Amino acid sequence: MDSNVKQLLKDHSLRLTQSRSDIISIFLERDVAISHGDIEFAMDGKYDRVTIYRTLKSFLESGLIHKVLDDNGGARYALCDDACADGDHRHDHIHFKCSNCERTTCLDGVFIPHVKLPKGFEAAESNYLITGVCDKCSAA
Ligand SMILES: [Zn+2]
Ligand SMILES: [Zn+2]
Ligand SMILES: [Zn+2]
Repeated sequence: MDSNVKQLLKDHSLRLTQSRSDIISIFLERDVAISHGDIEFAMDGKYDRVTIYRTLKSFLESGLIHKVLDDNGGARYALCDDACADGDHRHDHIHFKCSNCERTTCLDGVFIPHVKLPKGFEAAESNYLITGVCDKCSAA
């Protein structure tokens, strides 16, 4: 097994299980945000929907992955950077969806602009998705 996988789970106080290690490996192999369906497809029936759902939930809660909202209303997930910990996600970067290759990527270092809310409104979470053409497609 990849030692990265072991270390990642250990760092986030997650017990090592076969499903966790298999699913986290998919995230490590790809540098784009992936959906529940992508994982199901990659696992080719090895785990059922519920197992995948529970595994993603434990990753989300432990600060290993974060949710990325897609422009079709669906959810994707991407690995967090080191700053995230148990129940404490620390990033406010923008996500970019390429309409050509359909890859959704984290733009680490490009931050959601600060928005001043009217009195009485308290933000808990914000999502910022830009669609367009990514660097790989615009160069081609
Ligand atoms: Zn995070
Ligand atoms: Zn692209
Ligand atoms: Zn992200």
